[in-house]
Amino acid sequence: MFEQGVIRPPSEANSLLVRVTRNCPWNRCLFCPAYKGTTFSRRSVAEIKEDIDEMARYHGRNGSHVTTAFFQDADSLILPVEELLEILKHLGEAFPSLTRITSYARAKSLKRKSVTSLRALKAAGLTRIHTGLESGSVKVLKLTQKGESPGEMIEGGQRVMAAGIELSEYIMPGVGGKELSHENALETAHVLNRIRPDFIRVRTFALPPNSPMEAMAREGCFTPMNELETVAEIRDLLRHLEEMPAHFRCADFSLNLLMHVDGYLDRDRDRMLEDLDAFLSLPELDQKAYVLLQRSGHYGVHPSEMLEHQDLMSQLHNKVEELDSGNDDGFNRYIRAMMAGQLPRPQTGSWT
Ligand code: SF4
Repeated sequence: MFEQGVIRPPSEANSLLVRVTRNCPWNRCLFCPAYKGTTFSRRSVAEIKEDIDEMARYHGRNGSHVTTAFFQDADSLILPVEELLEILKHLGEAFPSLTRITSYARAKSLKRKSVTSLRALKAAGLTRIHTGLESGSVKVLKLTQKGESPGEMIEGGQRVMAAGIELSEYIMPGVGGKELSHENALETAHVLNRIRPDFIRVRTFALPPNSPMEAMAREGCFTPMNELETVAEIRDLLRHLEEMPAHFRCADFSLNLLMHVDGYLDRDRDRMLEDLDAFLSLPELDQKAYVLLQRSGHYGVHPSEMLEHQDLMSQLHNKVEELDSGNDDGFNRYIRAMMAGQLPRPQTGSWT
């Protein structure tokens, strides 16, 4: 049977998952539980080709309906170009109907590839790269042990764009905590303005349970932001992003509070800022009611819809007041726990 990894982007939910490496070669980011407790390893091209053949047998005649594929795990571009070309060729032959092949990659691996090599990968079928920028701030990248600099992020991203491969950059508002919120917004906007990717995917930070960042919060070296502060940070970021044809996406991730803030920076930026301002100008009790509604699993309901329902509003207000009574931070602690419940767990229960 062929191997599969545990993670893929939401946009690859229906894709063929081709595992070309196992786990993450860096695996030290303090906010990321995905591969903790696992060890990175490469797979041989022969092994990967066998998997592809097995998948072709598994899909049989239905293989002609497979149009998208995704290379797992965290950094497939760490492989030499020659190996990736061989894998892409074999995959294209086994599944001739593929129109999109995508992969995760770290900026460090991207910046080690020349634009010519990346163009060759594009010609062989690699159409999109997903990469975790998280933040453009040196301080935030150091705080979270991302292991990459803003300069490397810019260089890696610009190479992908120059090669004509679509680029999805993932960013994490809130990951710098209260202390670095403004810097996180400004510097992230600065890096994205230099890269001008096709997609900017917002992944609101949630504090992972039992993680090093939770310990940092306990010790006072990191102050988690509440939902309202994170929305304000997203507004700060959006205000500093330049007009470009990038798709700014909140709709594809339910930890983003305002999932309707979604559109193209060259067409919809003003509308998205208006949506953020409309939420930020609500009375605090209504803002908290909306947070509670969204975190209870009612994803994507527009705040204006919620405000129309008086019975619902009074139930939500009562619950907010109950959570806040007797403990100043009761509401925020409750919401943080709800958000943490949506995060993946380390595969072995270990953060090392
Ligand atoms: S965020 Fe990416 S690079 Fe960092 S540990 Fe997780 S998978 Fe690895």
